Amino acid sequence: MQGTTRPPDRTQCCIAGGGPAGLMLGYLLARAGVDVVVLEKHDDFLRDFRGDTIHPSTLTVLDDLGLLDEFLALPHQEVTELSGDVFGHIVTLADFTHLPSVRPFMVLIPQWDFLDFIAGKARQWPHFSLRMGAKALGVIEEDGKVIGVDAQTADGACAIHADLVVAADGRHTTLRGSAGLASDDLAAPIDVLWFRLARDAVRDPARTGGYMRPGAMLVMLNRDSYWQCAYVIPKGGLETLRSAGLPAFRARVAGIAPFLAPALTALTSWDDLKLLSVQISRMPRWYRDGLLCIGDAAHAMSPVGGVGINLAIQDAVAASNLLAEALREKRLSTDDLDAVQSRREWPARVTQRMQIAVQNEVLAPVLAGTTAPVEPPLAVKLLRRLPLLRRLPARLVGIGVRPERVRTQPFQHP
Ligand SMILES: Cc1cc2nc3c(=O)[nH]c(=O)nc-3n(C[C@H](O)[C@H](O)[C@H](O)COP(=O)(O)OP(=O)(O)OC[C@H]3O[C@@H](n4cnc5c(N)ncnc54)[C@H](O)[C@@H]3O)c2cc1C
Repeated sequence: MQGTTRPPDRTQCCIAGGGPAGLMLGYLLARAGVDVVVLEKHDDFLRDFRGDTIHPSTLTVLDDLGLLDEFLALPHQEVTELSGDVFGHIVTLADFTHLPSVRPFMVLIPQWDFLDFIAGKARQWPHFSLRMGAKALGVIEEDGKVIGVDAQTADGACAIHADLVVAADGRHTTLRGSAGLASDDLAAPIDVLWFRLARDAVRDPARTGGYMRPGAMLVMLNRDSYWQCAYVIPKGGLETLRSAGLPAFRARVAGIAPFLAPALTALTSWDDLKLLSVQISRMPRWYRDGLLCIGDAAHAMSPVGGVGINLAIQDAVAASNLLAEALREKRLSTDDLDAVQSRREWPARVTQRMQIAVQNEVLAPVLAGTTAPVEPPLAVKLLRRLPLLRRLPARLVGIGVRPERVRTQPFQHP
């Protein structure tokens, strides 16, 4: 790489991206005795809201690692069921209490607290190295094989050579494109506007949940001192909202949830709202010789069900289960990388199919205002009538299909 004067660093696995997927994989591999370098382009984990739900599947992984009690000692909220106000009908959409899980609830915790926690635990393993403020620029190739990563750090450019490079750099991944790997866009008909409202005005925690009215949908998450709110809009609909003005937006939200009207006055600028351009995509092939993509880099998820973090963690667990020994013993092959895709592609497909069905069959008609105003969608009616059915969404969201357990052991030096 131009500007690189230092000889390349060398490690067994170089992971680009210190999000849920990259940090968890780094932790697990280092714990299993593999030398790991994780590159995170930001200087810290403090970021805008980008998903704070830790589901029972991830709690089980933390329990496997003996970290669960310490994790649950961090400030957090616990959610045992998800409910919604669908055209004025209160519906329990998912009941987690029956899940076969060490802790049958969902945890709400700022993502940076979760990442700080995992990074802190990972640093206790001598094989782990985390470089903050280190941006991966692209893969280094030799004879058609990926052999490392070029990166930019505060100290200048550097190259890191590795037996395996993992792209865990999220849905706007740099490494995937630099390695010539493709991804299929599966199209999403919605975008989401995120904003915070102080809880002082509305304290009742029972307000947590989704609110659906013809033409509009709002989700509210109780974050102790504030409400994290998601207002769902048709894809590309932000400009239409902006041209109608902020007072009109506040009125729309108050129209769905009138009790929010006093708190909404705090929204005084469009800068108070963050647009999440919803994307669902999946790579046909997650790897090539020397490179593996996991998490959002391999399959960007819709926010439906709030499963993205948890799927990313599941990818990390599967990757470490399947790769740690081969990496440690320096006999990694592309068959091992193929095994990771074979294991995780199906859960990603099933989950994305579920998200697409909810987006197309429920959200898009509701936003278009084509659903009769007093009639909840059929699926919602069934959920109201059949309590047993509520266990299915809870299972899909809370645990997912093909849940992973940690199979690697802490490495003991001989
Ligand atoms: C607004 C929003 C709300 C969401 N809500 C939820 C939710 O409630 N629940 C849920 O489970 N999921 C949610 N998601 C999705 C969830 O955040 C992602 O699915 C999940 O974080 C994916 O984890 P990841 O590790 O694969 O990628 P990311 O979390 O995107 O992490 C990638 C990391 O790589 C770093 N990076 C990027 N490029 C480089 C580079 N070139 N070099 C070095 N580092 C790099 C980034 O800074 C980042 O830290 C939400 C996403 C958004 C944007």
